Amino acid sequence: MPRARVPFTAGRLWLDFVNTDEAPRHAQGDALASFDGYLAWLESAALIDAPRRAALERRAVEQPASATATLHEARRVRSALRPLAERGVHASERVTQAALLEINRVLGRSTGVRRVAQDARDGSFVRTFVPSGDAFAALVIPVVESAADALVTGELTHVRRCAAEPPCPRVFLDTSRSGRRRWCDMRRCGNRTKAARHRTAVRVRRRPPPA
Ligand SMILES: [Zn+2]
Repeated sequence: MPRARVPFTAGRLWLDFVNTDEAPRHAQGDALASFDGYLAWLESAALIDAPRRAALERRAVEQPASATATLHEARRVRSALRPLAERGVHASERVTQAALLEINRVLGRSTGVRRVAQDARDGSFVRTFVPSGDAFAALVIPVVESAADALVTGELTHVRRCAAEPPCPRVFLDTSRSGRRRWCDMRRCGNRTKAARHRTAVRVRRRPPPA
């Protein structure tokens, strides 16, 4: 089964999820263009494993309307989170309320078991959430939990949109010590922007003086 060809470079799950919408401008297409694409993304994000994905694919064949509704909900959550990610703490009341509405709608109906587990590799402790009930509806919960964490911890202050020219829609968490990270990816956008600025500067220098 193909993996989703999207980046996981934003530093937080909810921001990687927002970045799945950039794709219409790129060859691979929107990661949420189909339910299968959504499952591929979830597997790439390690939110589901291969057997779970196969089981969900089988269920989607049996219940196509339910799969479509799940996909539409994921897109709706994404469209509510993008403006919040782009504007961060400067988001308008309307944007913040719209995001809160989506977050709380998903959290409000999520049922499951919360656990603390120990990582077998390094012994560190992690909180886990094992959903019960509707397997489709639960898929987006970890994404929404991640966005909720950003609001609660105040981390939203460090969320930025890439400053590349021409514009790049990716958002990311700035964890740099200086707090001045500007690009989603230095190789992809940093170098491209610097090259574009250099070309502009050369053109300006070459322009003949006005007569
Ligand atoms: Zn970028």
